[in-house]
Amino acid sequence: MKTVYLALGSNLGDKLQHLNDALARLPKAGLELVAVSAVYETRAMYHTDQPDFFNIALEARTAVLPKVLLRRMQAIERELGRRRVLVNGPRTIDIDILLYGRFVIRSNDLEVPHPRIEERRFVLEPLAEIAPTLRHPVSKRSIAELLAAVKDQPVHKTQHRLALIAEPRP
Ligand code: AMP
Repeated sequence: MKTVYLALGSNLGDKLQHLNDALARLPKAGLELVAVSAVYETRAMYHTDQPDFFNIALEARTAVLPKVLLRRMQAIERELGRRRVLVNGPRTIDIDILLYGRFVIRSNDLEVPHPRIEERRFVLEPLAEIAPTLRHPVSKRSIAELLAAVKDQPVHKTQHRLALIAEPRP
């Protein structure tokens, strides 16, 4: 079993519902949820003239191998009605594999650690809530350190909580 971290985002329709629907499908896809962050409301980064996102990060345990996991996450995206009209454009649900244990994978369809973790406060802020001391396996910097470098992007923690609430670690 490996510990994996995923980032989920939605900026179309009932965003909370889409996040909930995706979360509900994860156990069947072979993921055992350990911690889920609060929901963060974030400004779209690349095409800024699109609705704000709701983003979460989560920790899970899995025996599913990375490429199979990617395909299962893409199947969930399709099931929830995602249409790939525009790269980085609006989406009902986006699921990114951020980290897979300490694996470093660089292939055409899968890059782990996700190559844009460091530039995305909408990923780092929820991830720092559940795993602040986790170290990026390549840069070796902690998530809290990476977050401190992107503080200027607009990200707002909401009161929304999904199925599993992140517990502080003992
Ligand atoms: P996006 O439209 O942002 O969801 O990007 C999806 C594309 O990113 C797909 O073609 C995936 O094969 C690719 N990809 C590469 N690395 C990852 C990763 N770590 N998690 C999710 N998708 C990835």
